[in-house]
Amino acid sequence: MDDLELGKLENLEKFTISDHDLPEEILSRYLSGNAIAVDTETMGLIPRRDRLCLVQLCDSEGYVTAIRIAKGQKEAPNLKKLMESEQIVKVFHYARFDVAQFKYTFGIETKPIFCTKIASKLARTYTSSHGLKNLVQELERVELDKSSQSSDWGNWDNLSPAQLSYAANDVLYLLPLKEKLTKMLMREERWHLAQQCFECIPVFVSLDLLQYKDIFEH
Ligand code: MN
Repeated sequence: MDDLELGKLENLEKFTISDHDLPEEILSRYLSGNAIAVDTETMGLIPRRDRLCLVQLCDSEGYVTAIRIAKGQKEAPNLKKLMESEQIVKVFHYARFDVAQFKYTFGIETKPIFCTKIASKLARTYTSSHGLKNLVQELERVELDKSSQSSDWGNWDNLSPAQLSYAANDVLYLLPLKEKLTKMLMREERWHLAQQCFECIPVFVSLDLLQYKDIFEH
Protein backbone atom coordinates (compact mmCIF):
# COMPACT_ATOMS: atom_id res chain seq x y z
CA MET A 1 0.00 0.00 0.00
CA ASP A 2 1.78 3.18 -1.10
CA ASP A 3 1.13 6.77 -0.11
CA LEU A 4 -0.70 7.51 -3.33
CA GLU A 5 -3.29 4.83 -2.65
CA LEU A 6 -3.61 5.83 1.01
CA GLY A 7 -4.11 9.40 -0.14
CA LYS A 8 -7.33 8.32 -1.79
CA LEU A 9 -8.88 7.40 1.54
CA GLU A 10 -11.45 10.02 2.30
CA ASN A 11 -12.06 11.71 5.65
CA LEU A 12 -9.09 10.00 7.27
CA GLU A 13 -6.14 11.97 8.56
CA LYS A 14 -5.19 9.39 11.15
CA PHE A 15 -5.03 5.94 9.59
CA THR A 16 -2.47 3.15 10.09
CA ILE A 17 -2.33 -0.26 8.44
CA SER A 18 -0.38 -2.95 10.26
CA ASP A 19 0.22 -6.64 9.64
CA HIS A 20 -0.53 -9.50 12.11
CA ASP A 21 -0.90 -7.39 15.28
CA LEU A 22 -1.11 -3.91 16.80
CA PRO A 23 2.23 -2.06 16.82
CA GLU A 24 3.51 -1.39 20.40
CA GLU A 25 3.16 2.40 20.16
CA ILE A 26 -0.45 2.15 19.01
CA LEU A 27 -1.22 -0.39 21.75
CA SER A 28 0.10 2.12 24.33
CA ARG A 29 -1.98 4.86 22.78
CA TYR A 30 -5.16 2.76 22.87
CA LEU A 31 -4.43 1.50 26.42
CA SER A 32 -4.39 5.12 27.64
CA GLY A 33 -8.05 5.68 26.72
CA ASN A 34 -11.19 4.28 28.32
CA ALA A 35 -13.05 3.00 25.24
CA ILE A 36 -12.12 1.68 21.80
CA ALA A 37 -14.28 1.02 18.76
CA VAL A 38 -13.76 -2.40 17.16
CA ASP A 39 -14.94 -4.14 13.98
CA THR A 40 -13.74 -7.08 11.90
CA GLU A 41 -13.94 -8.15 8.28
CA THR A 42 -14.03 -11.87 7.53
CA MET A 43 -14.53 -14.31 4.66
CA GLY A 44 -18.15 -14.80 5.74
CA LEU A 45 -20.58 -15.04 8.62
CA ILE A 46 -19.71 -18.45 10.12
CA PRO A 47 -16.86 -18.05 12.66
CA ARG A 48 -15.55 -21.62 12.53
CA ARG A 49 -15.62 -21.73 8.73
CA ASP A 50 -14.90 -18.17 7.60
CA ARG A 51 -11.58 -16.78 8.67
CA LEU A 52 -10.79 -13.39 10.17
CA CYS A 53 -9.09 -11.08 7.64
CA LEU A 54 -9.04 -7.56 9.08
CA VAL A 55 -9.47 -5.97 12.52
CA GLN A 56 -10.27 -2.26 12.67
CA LEU A 57 -9.87 -0.13 15.79
CA CYS A 58 -10.62 3.54 16.48
CA ASP A 59 -10.11 5.64 19.59
CA SER A 60 -12.04 8.70 20.79
CA GLU A 61 -9.75 11.00 18.79
CA GLY A 62 -10.46 9.17 15.54
CA TYR A 63 -7.14 7.31 15.26
CA VAL A 64 -7.94 4.26 13.12
CA THR A 65 -5.78 1.15 12.82
CA ALA A 66 -6.53 -1.68 10.38
CA ILE A 67 -4.70 -4.91 11.27
CA ARG A 68 -4.35 -7.38 8.42
CA ILE A 69 -4.59 -10.95 9.72
CA ALA A 70 -2.75 -13.67 7.78
CA LYS A 71 -4.31 -17.00 6.84
CA GLY A 72 -3.47 -19.55 9.54
CA GLN A 73 -2.36 -16.90 12.04
CA LYS A 74 -3.05 -18.14 15.59
CA GLU A 75 -1.83 -15.31 17.83
CA ALA A 76 -2.04 -11.54 18.15
CA PRO A 77 -0.61 -10.77 21.64
CA ASN A 78 -1.01 -6.98 21.56
CA LEU A 79 -4.56 -7.20 20.27
CA LYS A 80 -5.29 -9.73 23.05
CA LYS A 81 -3.87 -7.34 25.69
CA LEU A 82 -6.14 -4.56 24.48
CA MET A 83 -9.26 -6.70 24.10
CA GLU A 84 -8.85 -8.25 27.57
CA SER A 85 -8.00 -4.99 29.36
CA GLU A 86 -10.62 -4.42 32.08
CA GLN A 87 -10.13 -0.62 31.93
CA ILE A 88 -11.14 -0.24 28.29
CA VAL A 89 -14.68 -0.73 27.01
CA LYS A 90 -14.71 -2.47 23.62
CA VAL A 91 -17.48 -1.00 21.47
CA PHE A 92 -18.88 -3.08 18.61
CA HIS A 93 -21.91 -3.11 16.37
CA TYR A 94 -23.22 -6.67 16.86
CA ALA A 95 -20.47 -7.70 19.27
CA ARG A 96 -21.61 -11.32 19.29
CA PHE A 97 -20.03 -11.93 15.87
CA ASP A 98 -16.67 -10.17 16.35
CA VAL A 99 -16.19 -11.50 19.89
CA ALA A 100 -16.72 -15.05 18.56
CA GLN A 101 -14.15 -14.44 15.83
CA PHE A 102 -11.59 -13.24 18.39
CA LYS A 103 -12.27 -16.16 20.72
CA TYR A 104 -12.08 -18.77 17.97
CA THR A 105 -9.08 -17.32 16.10
CA PHE A 106 -6.88 -16.09 18.95
CA GLY A 107 -8.42 -17.42 22.20
CA ILE A 108 -9.23 -13.82 23.19
CA GLU A 109 -11.85 -13.30 25.95
CA THR A 110 -13.11 -9.83 25.05
CA LYS A 111 -14.29 -7.71 28.00
CA PRO A 112 -15.87 -5.35 28.94
CA ILE A 113 -18.22 -4.98 25.96
CA PHE A 114 -20.66 -2.36 24.66
CA CYS A 115 -22.80 -3.39 21.67
CA THR A 116 -24.45 -0.57 19.72
CA LYS A 117 -26.93 -3.01 18.14
CA ILE A 118 -28.23 -4.27 21.50
CA ALA A 119 -28.25 -0.70 22.84
CA SER A 120 -30.24 0.40 19.80
CA LYS A 121 -32.78 -2.42 20.18
CA LEU A 122 -33.31 -1.54 23.85
CA ALA A 123 -33.46 2.24 23.37
CA ARG A 124 -34.89 2.83 19.86
CA THR A 125 -38.14 0.91 20.19
CA TYR A 126 -39.77 3.32 17.71
CA THR A 127 -38.05 1.55 14.79
CA SER A 128 -37.08 -1.92 13.63
CA SER A 129 -34.00 -0.60 11.78
CA HIS A 130 -30.96 -1.37 13.89
CA GLY A 131 -28.29 -1.75 11.22
CA LEU A 132 -25.16 0.37 11.55
CA LYS A 133 -26.10 2.36 8.44
CA ASN A 134 -29.47 3.33 9.95
CA LEU A 135 -27.97 4.20 13.32
CA VAL A 136 -25.24 6.39 11.84
CA GLN A 137 -27.79 8.03 9.57
CA GLU A 138 -30.20 8.91 12.38
CA LEU A 139 -27.82 9.73 15.24
CA GLU A 140 -24.74 11.06 13.42
CA ARG A 141 -26.41 12.41 10.24
CA VAL A 142 -23.85 10.61 8.05
CA GLU A 143 -24.49 8.36 5.04
CA LEU A 144 -22.28 5.24 5.28
CA ASP A 145 -21.18 3.72 1.98
CA LYS A 146 -21.73 -0.03 2.41
CA SER A 147 -20.79 -1.02 -1.16
CA SER A 148 -17.60 -2.86 -0.09
CA GLN A 149 -19.39 -4.87 2.62
CA SER A 150 -19.42 -8.07 0.58
CA SER A 151 -15.97 -8.17 -0.96
CA ASP A 152 -12.87 -10.37 -0.89
CA TRP A 153 -11.25 -9.50 2.44
CA GLY A 154 -8.90 -12.50 2.13
CA ASN A 155 -6.86 -10.71 -0.54
CA TRP A 156 -5.01 -9.15 2.37
CA ASP A 157 -1.97 -7.54 0.75
CA ASN A 158 -4.05 -6.08 -2.03
CA LEU A 159 -7.06 -4.50 -0.31
CA SER A 160 -8.38 -1.59 -2.34
CA PRO A 161 -8.61 1.99 -1.03
CA ALA A 162 -12.40 1.58 -1.27
CA GLN A 163 -12.27 -1.51 0.98
CA LEU A 164 -9.98 0.19 3.51
CA SER A 165 -12.09 3.31 3.53
CA TYR A 166 -15.21 1.22 4.12
CA ALA A 167 -13.47 -0.75 6.87
CA ALA A 168 -12.35 2.44 8.62
CA ASN A 169 -15.78 4.03 8.39
CA ASP A 170 -17.29 1.05 10.19
CA VAL A 171 -15.39 1.99 13.38
CA LEU A 172 -15.32 5.77 13.04
CA TYR A 173 -18.81 6.41 14.44
CA LEU A 174 -19.07 3.72 17.13
CA LEU A 175 -17.81 5.81 20.06
CA PRO A 176 -20.09 8.79 19.30
CA LEU A 177 -22.97 6.30 18.91
CA LYS A 178 -22.14 4.77 22.29
CA GLU A 179 -22.45 8.20 23.94
CA LYS A 180 -25.80 8.98 22.32
CA LEU A 181 -27.26 5.52 22.92
CA THR A 182 -26.11 5.56 26.57
CA LYS A 183 -27.98 8.85 27.09
CA MET A 184 -31.10 7.38 25.51
CA LEU A 185 -30.83 4.21 27.61
CA MET A 186 -30.46 6.25 30.80
CA ARG A 187 -33.41 8.46 29.84
CA GLU A 188 -35.57 5.37 29.23
CA GLU A 189 -34.26 3.66 32.39
CA ARG A 190 -32.82 0.74 30.43
CA TRP A 191 -29.12 1.36 31.05
CA HIS A 192 -28.87 -1.31 33.75
CA LEU A 193 -30.66 -3.84 31.55
CA ALA A 194 -28.30 -2.97 28.68
CA GLN A 195 -25.27 -3.62 30.86
CA GLN A 196 -26.70 -6.97 31.89
CA CYS A 197 -27.19 -7.84 28.20
CA PHE A 198 -23.60 -6.85 27.37
CA GLU A 199 -22.36 -9.13 30.16
CA CYS A 200 -24.26 -12.05 28.57
CA ILE A 201 -22.48 -11.73 25.23
CA PRO A 202 -19.57 -14.07 26.13
CA VAL A 203 -22.14 -16.75 27.07
CA PHE A 204 -23.88 -16.41 23.70
CA VAL A 205 -20.48 -16.56 22.00
CA SER A 206 -19.56 -19.81 23.77
CA LEU A 207 -22.91 -21.32 22.77
CA ASP A 208 -22.51 -20.10 19.17
CA LEU A 209 -19.04 -21.64 18.87
CA LEU A 210 -20.43 -24.97 20.10
CA GLN A 211 -23.26 -24.56 17.57
CA TYR A 212 -26.05 -24.62 20.16
CA LYS A 213 -29.23 -22.95 18.92
CA ASP A 214 -32.12 -21.45 20.90
CA ILE A 215 -31.42 -23.24 24.20
CA PHE A 216 -33.46 -20.59 26.03
CA GLU A 217 -36.55 -21.38 23.95
CA HIS A 218 -39.28 -23.71 25.08
MN1 MN B 1 -17.40 -3.97 9.04
